[in-house]
Amino acid sequence: MKCEICKNKIQETFLKKFLGTHVKDEKGKKHLVCFECQKKYDNVKEKMLEALWLVLFMKTLYTQKQIESRIKELAKDIDKAYEGKIPYIICTLIGAKKFCNKLLPLLNVAYEYDEIKLKSYGGTKAGEILYEKEPLGSWKSKDVLLIEDIVDTGNTMVFALEKMKSANSVKICTLLDKPEAREVKVEANFIGFVLEGKPFVVGYGLDYNEKFREFDEIKLYEDWIDNFVKFLF
Ligand code: 5GP
Repeated sequence: MKCEICKNKIQETFLKKFLGTHVKDEKGKKHLVCFECQKKYDNVKEKMLEALWLVLFMKTLYTQKQIESRIKELAKDIDKAYEGKIPYIICTLIGAKKFCNKLLPLLNVAYEYDEIKLKSYGGTKAGEILYEKEPLGSWKSKDVLLIEDIVDTGNTMVFALEKMKSANSVKICTLLDKPEAREVKVEANFIGFVLEGKPFVVGYGLDYNEKFREFDEIKLYEDWIDNFVKFLF
């Protein structure tokens, strides 16, 4: 990863996990930048303060170790379910990318790979679903395995399932499941962790307004943290 401004390599640092790797210009266009350039562009000091509060108070639900050992188990289950088949694995961007990057190298079955981008959230409130990126290939008559970061209301998965009617089969593998938040009937076939209630979580690919995706842990983003950050800045 190279900085779009100074062209230097972007170092993976602890702060980057909080601050992200992008800044927006006046037109709202995103640029991939290093920490030095980000400091010139952005309100980094404020963000660092915010980050400090979050580190101190955000509750960790699952550690990296717990997540990765669960992913190993999921890989075994997927191998078993697709024995003798070649699943057409579709990663739902951006949230499931980190999960996918860990899961796919652990699979023994051969598979085809594709990506889609569906968007259903602005902040912590459910919004309408947008189809931002369609898959490059065709799933017609194939055994589709959709990889999701989290199934919440279920609307996103129902939208995807509707689109994939011509597939031979469609299964869902999700890192997290929030069954109590379901608005439509949909069940995942492979589930990393089931969350109780309707918490909003971040980390391991899951963001809050583009932040915290890079966390290696899954953390709780509670309302009071959100309110406190807004009060501070
Ligand atoms: P659904 O359509 O099932 O309500 O939502 C699916 C999408 O909403 C997920 O792919 C994810 O991007 C987002 N989402 C749902 N719950 C959460 C959450 O607790 N945290 C974050 N960061 N995103 C969530």
